[in-house]
Amino acid sequence: MTAPDVLKPDFASRRRHFIFTDEHEQLRESIRRFVIKELQPHAEEWELSTFPDWVFERLGELGFLGLDKPERYGGQGGDYYASLVLAEEMVHADCGGLAMGVAVQTDMAMPPILAFGTEQQKQEWLVPAIRGTAILCLGITEPDAGSDVAGIRTRAVRDGDEYVIHGSKTFITNGHRAHAIVLVTKTDPDAGYEGFTLFLVPMDAPGVIREKRLEKLGMHASDTALLAFHDVRVPESAVLGSVGKGFYQIMWELQGERLIGAAGAVAAAQRVFDRTLQYARERTAFGRPIGRFQVIRHKFAEMATKIETARQMVYTTAWRFHDGAYPVREIAIAKLYAARIACEVADECLQIHGGNGYTKEYGIERSWRDLRLNRIGAGTDEIMLDLIGRSYGL
Ligand SMILES: Cc1cc2nc3c(=O)[nH]c(=O)nc-3n(C[C@H](O)[C@H](O)[C@H](O)COP(=O)(O)OP(=O)(O)OC[C@H]3O[C@@H](n4cnc5c(N)ncnc54)[C@H](O)[C@@H]3O)c2cc1C
Repeated sequence: MTAPDVLKPDFASRRRHFIFTDEHEQLRESIRRFVIKELQPHAEEWELSTFPDWVFERLGELGFLGLDKPERYGGQGGDYYASLVLAEEMVHADCGGLAMGVAVQTDMAMPPILAFGTEQQKQEWLVPAIRGTAILCLGITEPDAGSDVAGIRTRAVRDGDEYVIHGSKTFITNGHRAHAIVLVTKTDPDAGYEGFTLFLVPMDAPGVIREKRLEKLGMHASDTALLAFHDVRVPESAVLGSVGKGFYQIMWELQGERLIGAAGAVAAAQRVFDRTLQYARERTAFGRPIGRFQVIRHKFAEMATKIETARQMVYTTAWRFHDGAYPVREIAIAKLYAARIACEVADECLQIHGGNGYTKEYGIERSWRDLRLNRIGAGTDEIMLDLIGRSYGL
């Protein structure tokens, strides 16, 4: 590159971040092509019906459900960044509920099985989950305990060679369609943080009841279940990981969940931004495109600054995570910030669309509704703030 080239701004230059290689970019291209061709056309329809199970099978067939999972379980053997690419590209479906249902499978339910499961559990559930023939869900939240994970009441009581599980879980994504659940229980209520145990429970086990399909503000394409467990008997082999270590295991799981959620939120914010930019160039008022009003131009500048800041935070944290660090504070910061700015961006984009933003036709209102979940799911803003504050010994 010659000096004059360097001195001339080139706003259209490639903006690939250093964590991504050419292979990641090729993967990005192929996921995006697939999403736009095969998923995006159904976005409206799936708002009403939830997305169909064949999506998992198709994603599995294409290898997208096991991008960062070992080849011996049918995965692609890629790194963590490949999973990030999937989360980012899924936003092109313009269907938040779909992206969430897939992320629950790949980045929430699968990681604990891979990290803590026995070989038998991996063969039985991880392999078909990567193939897309088994659907998974993750059960942490209960009607009386969400933020306060330690306050859950679902009990697993040992009875000979078995455990008997009793309790309920709510807001469970994929809960209606899932074949198995990674379930957080208490095995010893008097043992504090040492009293939790994870189980891998088939959803067709007697006593598992899919009580209710919950209606929501957004994420309509996903199914969200209230589940009951009435004396569900499972063998000892259903324990996932170690008895008494479930709290630490699920806190570990939440780190990956928050980071992938943050990556998805930033990508979704970028998508709404891009669509709105197009709109601001085309829509005219008072004889000029609305994007030419300084007020609107500055809105884009503010949004771009927030998105770019959040993206850098997500990538740097992902880089540390990928390198084997456990950056809990930085993940909370990235999750908090990404969720907040995604909601701010969606709101501003809706405003820039004027009345059209308020209608269903332009899809902006859907992004606005879908993105709102980011400030609640996987730990609320308030819980992120508390975690960050406490990490300084306060
Ligand atoms: C669409 C959807 C999908 C979901 N999917 C799943 C899933 O698949 N699996 C799963 O297990 N869960 C899932 N969740 C649950 C989600 O993670 C919880 O809703 C979230 O953790 C908050 O818990 P809560 O709803 O019980 O709120 P609460 O804990 O009751 O909190 C209510 C309010 O009090 C505030 N608050 C609570 N404690 C504190 C504190 N110590 N300091 C300050 N403020 C506090 C919260 O920030 C919040 O504003 C899902 C939720 C939704 C809505």
